[in-house]
Amino acid sequence: MKEATYLTIIDEFDRWAGQYGRICTRGCSCCCTGSVTITALEGERILDFAVKNGMEQWLADRLRQPVQTRRLRMTTNEFARACLSGQEAAPGTCEKLTPCPFLADDICRVYPVRPFSCRCFISISRCSATRPAQVDQLYLSASTAVLQLIEHLGQKQYWGIMTDVLLSLLDISTYQGIATALADPARVMEGRLRTLTARPLPGFLFTEEEGQHLQPLLHAIFSSRIGSVSVEDVLNGRIPPENGPGAQTI
Ligand code: SF4
Ligand code: SF4
Repeated sequence: MKEATYLTIIDEFDRWAGQYGRICTRGCSCCCTGSVTITALEGERILDFAVKNGMEQWLADRLRQPVQTRRLRMTTNEFARACLSGQEAAPGTCEKLTPCPFLADDICRVYPVRPFSCRCFISISRCSATRPAQVDQLYLSASTAVLQLIEHLGQKQYWGIMTDVLLSLLDISTYQGIATALADPARVMEGRLRTLTARPLPGFLFTEEEGQHLQPLLHAIFSSRIGSVSVEDVLNGRIPPENGPGAQTI
């Protein structure tokens, strides 16, 4: 149910985002860095993809590589909570970024299961080391809102830099082959120590005016149905989700 809800949310976002132009093409990859953040669900989708496609050794080799990346202090929803309650918010520090370890010849090797942080990253002009992505502010606000919903869906589970979350999930028996190929318990522990815990949605970060423009998107997401239940029901814990009873509502 949780994965179906996740896929429904990103489908609705993709439908809404179709109105925005982008120059992004296959092989254009300077936005692909080791700083991408994901939830545990998104991590399991990548690990399942690796297992299904016989990529255990490949993934283990990628996870062995040290990634210079962001040092995170807050999840997106923790940052939102701090901002909304007028507290000082410092999401983390940014070190020198290295390319995402899942890039090979400028192509993403986990593209079908890339996380939402990757899917929503677009630009209307070609980026370079000195020219950051250019994107409409409303698009940015919408993608941040969806990131917040995805974190809410994964509340109480791992949240963090992609490689750290993947390392943290390697104690699940399904991924034993990757853990064995990696054979580096210290690296697994290092990743686990760097992850944070996904938090419930405290409120969105967009302005009131942006909120009015984003109503159609939010309505489409909340009212979408997965069988007999709506996404809103799942996010509000009105059905038994895999994240267990007691999940905080929106
Ligand atoms: S965001 Fe920039 S670097 Fe990434 S695919 Fe689009 S144009 Fe290329
Ligand atoms: S997972 Fe794929 S799309 Fe995302 S940053 Fe890495 S190479 Fe790029």
